[in-house]
Amino acid sequence: MKRRDFIKQASVGAVVSSAAAAPAIATTTKSADTKIKWKMVTTWPKNFPVLGTGANQLAELITEMSDGRIEVKVYGAGELIPAFEVFDAVSRGTAQIGHGSAYYWKGKIEEAQFFSTVPFGMNSQEMTSWLYYGGGMELWKETYEPFGVIPAAAGNTTVQMAGWFNKEINNVNDLKGLKMRIPGLGGEVLKRAGGTPVNLPGGELFTSLKTGAIDATEWVGPYNDLAFGLYKAAKYYYYPGWHEPGTTLEAIINKEAFEVLPGDLKSIVENACKIVNQNMSLEFTAKNNTALDTLVNKHNVDVRRLPDDVLNKLKELSHDVVSELAEKNKAAQKIYDSYNKFYKQVSAWHEISEKIYYNVR
Ligand code: CA
Repeated sequence: MKRRDFIKQASVGAVVSSAAAAPAIATTTKSADTKIKWKMVTTWPKNFPVLGTGANQLAELITEMSDGRIEVKVYGAGELIPAFEVFDAVSRGTAQIGHGSAYYWKGKIEEAQFFSTVPFGMNSQEMTSWLYYGGGMELWKETYEPFGVIPAAAGNTTVQMAGWFNKEINNVNDLKGLKMRIPGLGGEVLKRAGGTPVNLPGGELFTSLKTGAIDATEWVGPYNDLAFGLYKAAKYYYYPGWHEPGTTLEAIINKEAFEVLPGDLKSIVENACKIVNQNMSLEFTAKNNTALDTLVNKHNVDVRRLPDDVLNKLKELSHDVVSELAEKNKAAQKIYDSYNKFYKQVSAWHEISEKIYYNVR
């Protein structure tokens, strides 16, 4: 019998059931034989490539690294609660941990969007650097504090694609009247450009596009978009993902459930998030390039670059949207200032390093 299986069996009797509104914590949390069962709710379809499997990996890592002292059971979108109720479920303790992205909660916490991605903003490497070393993480924790939720970066999509369209986008006017699934700040930008943004969970995209309920959609990038079969519902696949240049995925943890953990388990949870944060972006990089090849060469997808004047207009509108959000409330302004300061500095460095290198290699 594997040690883990043994621990699972041996621990059965020691587990406290997850009563309503209370974290599922055994009473002996300080001892070495602590047995804890956590539920992880996610915004992704169960086992969805990278996003769902990355959440699974986070759960497995926490269980393995804790030698079975924390057992995490993962629920896909809609299994325990609907996709967009993940934050509330973790906040009230229905689940102890969740996996999603901060912009999904913009109706509740508008400034949380900065912790997902900013249109025309930092890429994944820069975002993660801001969070870990530029003060971003502290601001993120502060933002979720009133909700009894602790955030952690737990994945990054890297630069996304602009999305799937059934008509050509040749100038800004082509965005007028366009009903498009696009979340977060990018959605606000599309609205300024005359379109109608809608937010739908990933699992609803294919049918919505196929039936014409929406005219266009973005999702993530070649690997994830291929998995949903979006090429069967739209003609054109545009780049670049100006609206999501490096979206941070998050793990959110119920504060009460986290605080009662002994120090070693706290460290395990935090470091498991760091491992997954790195792994998911690496997996996207590895799989996107082969998936793009499949989309182009096997499925004959028409891959197109958005024209410069469209990108320039979207950039101008993005600046307005983001600065207006910052002006609205003090918390948003504080995050925006920190984000901008880091962005400016890191851009100056990347102008003479990453960017030049991309152009000359
Ligand atoms: Ca997206």
